[in-house]
Amino acid sequence: MTALPAASDSFRAIWITSDDGKRAKPATVQEITMGDLMDGDVTVKVTHTTVNYKDGLAITAKGPIARKFPMIPGVDMAGTVLASDHADFAEGDEVILNGFGVGEGHMGAYAPYARVSGDWLIKRPDGLTGAQAMAIGTAGYTAMLCVMALDKAGIQPDDGPILVTGAAGGVGSVAIAILAKRGYHVVASTGRPEEESYLKGLGAAEIVDRNEFGGDVRPLSREKWAGAVDAVGSKTLANVLSQVKYGGAVAACGLAQGGDLPSFVHPFILRAVQLIGVESVMSPIPMRKAAYDQLAKDLPMETLDAMTQHIGFDDLLDAGHQIVEGKVRGRLVATY
Ligand code: NDP
Repeated sequence: MTALPAASDSFRAIWITSDDGKRAKPATVQEITMGDLMDGDVTVKVTHTTVNYKDGLAITAKGPIARKFPMIPGVDMAGTVLASDHADFAEGDEVILNGFGVGEGHMGAYAPYARVSGDWLIKRPDGLTGAQAMAIGTAGYTAMLCVMALDKAGIQPDDGPILVTGAAGGVGSVAIAILAKRGYHVVASTGRPEEESYLKGLGAAEIVDRNEFGGDVRPLSREKWAGAVDAVGSKTLANVLSQVKYGGAVAACGLAQGGDLPSFVHPFILRAVQLIGVESVMSPIPMRKAAYDQLAKDLPMETLDAMTQHIGFDDLLDAGHQIVEGKVRGRLVATY
């Protein structure tokens, strides 16, 4: 097993700085030491990470993700505990971390070592490798939270089709796979028609052009969807809401198109539509464990593998730019 490095040992990290302490500059690669890491009661040898849309925003400085400087981005990690003063973790434990402000306000996963709070860790679930845990990552675990939200709203496969927006992205890909495994008729909305066979391979029954949700929003449109998982926001979410069937529900988790919501109250007051917000970063540990238990049942590992591309540390910066440009398909796993 890797030994705990000395305070002066150096290694490469993705590094974000700021000239004014407020606005981040685009990330670079920097040689740092253990002494540059922030305090935490558990030291982790990071073995795998991933690139989510949010990580792309942090790397490119196109969104206000890093809140302290300097910062190491990377909101998801899998690894092995090297040292622990936390009662729940001991040297050698295999752990994962999703969110909790890591990669934003606390140095994150884009370095081979991380010092974090044990309160943010969970033991890696049985049967999941570090690479698979990161193939799921925040995007996949958020997709599961979205499906659990639709469950809670009482949506059943017999109620009608479920729309997934941002389908070829990380959240969308995992949501399609989970919903299809559960027997839903899944309709995938994408701007990448060339990904039709990929999306059908994940379990989508139909593909729709995302431009169908880009027009002017009406208070109500023809009822089409029993429910939806939306990773896109803005006009898309507003148009989707106008098309949800009476009593249906939309789990909204993202803003890839924009953070605005130019909608009307009509779907809520005339069709009893529910709009459910899904948040993964600060969700409590029991909810995370429930989501991972559910993922083990509902996400076939061969489907997860089919949506995953493997990269290395040296590819992280480029991958951050690619994901913000909407060019990444499915999920990325980086192995150090
Ligand atoms: P990805 O970049 O992998 O996927 C986003 C997808 O959205 C793209 O692949 C594309 O799908 C679609 N898209 C991109 N730009 C536009 C646009 N201008 N108009 C319409 N559709 C667009 O990102 P993730 O899956 O990692 O994350 C998706 C969203 O969810 C992000 O906004 C992210 O911040 C948010 N998120 C929120 C979480 C939470 O806790 N609430 C947790 C995780 C993610 P296609 O090519 O198929 O059209």
